[in-house]
Amino acid sequence: MTARIIDGKAVAASLRAELATRVAGLGFRPGLTVILVGDDPASAVYVRSKDRAAKEAGIEATTIRLPADTAERALLAEIARLNADPAVDGILVQLPLPPQIDPNRVIAAIDPAKDVDGFHPVNVGALANGQPGLVPCTPAGTMKLLAYAGVKLAGARAIVLGRSAIVGRPVAALLLAADATVTIAHSRTRDLPAECRRADVVIAAVGRPEMVRGDWIAPGATVIDVGINRLPDGRLVGDVAYAECLAHAGAITPVPGGVGPMTIACLLENTVEAAVRRRGVTG
Ligand code: NDP
Repeated sequence: MTARIIDGKAVAASLRAELATRVAGLGFRPGLTVILVGDDPASAVYVRSKDRAAKEAGIEATTIRLPADTAERALLAEIARLNADPAVDGILVQLPLPPQIDPNRVIAAIDPAKDVDGFHPVNVGALANGQPGLVPCTPAGTMKLLAYAGVKLAGARAIVLGRSAIVGRPVAALLLAADATVTIAHSRTRDLPAECRRADVVIAAVGRPEMVRGDWIAPGATVIDVGINRLPDGRLVGDVAYAECLAHAGAITPVPGGVGPMTIACLLENTVEAAVRRRGVTG
């Protein structure tokens, strides 16, 4: 069997086009402000991509660049200003932050209605309770790829490898909300290959290059690879041994071109959703 490849690049492009049409019909431009503290090169690349994609969708995107030695107090003051600005619908603070700044305090300072990363405790709590809120972008993108691939989640056995606050836990909560029977695996899980073999859906988010082997995958299972790992030779690979798993899975996402492009598309969607809800308009 050779798996169907779930083309995240194509799904993300169509979502972005849909959002651009939606924004054009709103009669106003949703505002997204991204704050970048310091000069981490990877963060700078992410922020530029977010800015470009937002502008292409018709979103009023602004990037605030602050020096690496910015005091936590100054960043909190900037967030308070953005919370009070009616033109700002979404606020995103690019992580990681320099060591003198506590990311939890910063995230908690963002107005939950503008928290387009979905990391504020109010949004985390809403997701955990199955209530509406802003959902973190990579997990939201993962669910959209499953929907696009036509995977039936109700009653399916799903395993999430990884329990981080930004990927593993929210993905597990979303799968549960979609009526899957969910196992969350982590570094202390016993016999991970056997746990995976029982699953109809495998979501890999561990940050270990090509850890998930072909013989961990039940015939026909769906594999979503969230991992992004740079190998010493410069190649970009996921957490899944792609070629091996391709031979076992029913459907699989590649890296790059799978979950990655969905993350930014979902950030744009969150910005539009936040704008529409906060301003009380339809569209
Ligand atoms: P974290 O390092 O925060 O979490 C990794 C998780 O994997 C932890 O829960 C850890 O367990 C678990 N883990 C580590 N090693 C093993 C192992 N050998 N067996 C089982 N579980 C293990 O990573 P993130 O969640 O932030 O990211 C995961 C991956 O997703 C990374 O490759 C990252 O680059 C990628 N990513 C991709 C995004 C995208 O846009 N596509 C966005 C965000 C992340 P424990 O809790 O026990 O330590």
